[in-house]
Amino acid sequence: MTTIPFNTPPYCGREDAYVLEAIHSHKICGDGAFSKKCHAWLEERTGAARAFLTTSGTHALDMAALLCELKAGDEVILPSFTFSSTANAFVLAGATPVFVDIRPDTMNIDENCIEDAITDRTRVICVMHYAGVACEMDTILDIARRHSLLVVEDAAQAVMATYKGRPLGNVGDYGCYSFHETKNYSMGEGGAILLHRDNPRAEIIREKGTNRARLLRGQVDKYTWEDLGSSYLPSELNAAYLWGQLEMADEINAARLHSWQLYREGLAPLKEEGLIDWQAIPDGCVHNGHMFYIKARDVAERTALIAHLRAQGVQSVFHYVPLHSAGAGLRFGRFHGEDRYTTRESERLLRLPMYYGLTDSAVEQAVDAVTSFYRGGRP
Ligand SMILES: *Cc1c(COP(=O)(O)O)cnc(C)c1O
Repeated sequence: MTTIPFNTPPYCGREDAYVLEAIHSHKICGDGAFSKKCHAWLEERTGAARAFLTTSGTHALDMAALLCELKAGDEVILPSFTFSSTANAFVLAGATPVFVDIRPDTMNIDENCIEDAITDRTRVICVMHYAGVACEMDTILDIARRHSLLVVEDAAQAVMATYKGRPLGNVGDYGCYSFHETKNYSMGEGGAILLHRDNPRAEIIREKGTNRARLLRGQVDKYTWEDLGSSYLPSELNAAYLWGQLEMADEINAARLHSWQLYREGLAPLKEEGLIDWQAIPDGCVHNGHMFYIKARDVAERTALIAHLRAQGVQSVFHYVPLHSAGAGLRFGRFHGEDRYTTRESERLLRLPMYYGLTDSAVEQAVDAVTSFYRGGRP
């Protein structure tokens, strides 16, 4: 029996050559030829006014939070079912995260819980498109417009996914992608920030608070400290690796969607009998096969299922411990409204192996392992 890992980093074949090319170009710091190719690709594919590679998805979120110009005591509404970085970015910028509940069907922020959480200190709504399935953005953009709030998209999982034809990451004011090795496209560690409208502060914040980018374009004859900032430029070596993936983005996307569809077909009988649940793909959302997850009845069943899958050579993982109930969440933020779904649904969720290069027979093995658990193969 072969063991199927939960993830292996994407690799298409030309990454080695591109990394060597970067090395031999004697330009290995940031914003060289490969970074520029990646920026152009991101802008073209998403329609964003500007796109910049960053050292991580986390740093893209940090940059977005800085661009929101928050003051101490300002509030940001976000889901509690998300990665720590979504909240940390705003805490680091001095704001208070206000968590609201999610929808059980997509695990995304419940758009109907947002308005009630708005106070006179609210400045930003930060959504997270879980598993590359879009949040209900028309409703959210309308709330933001009526209350003069900015919208940040944590689109770490959503590269190549769309909402009513609009690429995720360029629907709100700022969009943040991750190119971590667990994401659909990777550079080891890395990410990108998308600007829906150009904001000249972005390249200054990204260049340690200096106007060095203007110097490089010959627009000034020396560069100086202009604003706050940090070092958010990834090395060319990482950008070169990423370019090997972005130029194969359609192939990677199609392969992931194929695996996703195989899981759906294989597990349809269990779903039809109500033994498992799975994610909804609302009308207007085109996802990217970032993740395939199922939901067990409760946490006890999920624990038994994980053990059963492990015994069948299938690695499965779950996340997230809801931020509002974690130590830092209790310290830095608060939950508004009722936690009807966040905790309960997060305890049911289980992610099955999903990566570029996953074979059909591996999906079949995973489907069989889940099926045997529910068909009485339980220990
Ligand atoms: C992966 C991820 C991040 C962080 O990205 P890094 O590149 O690992 O820093 C942030 N938010 C979400 C929802 C993610 O899935």
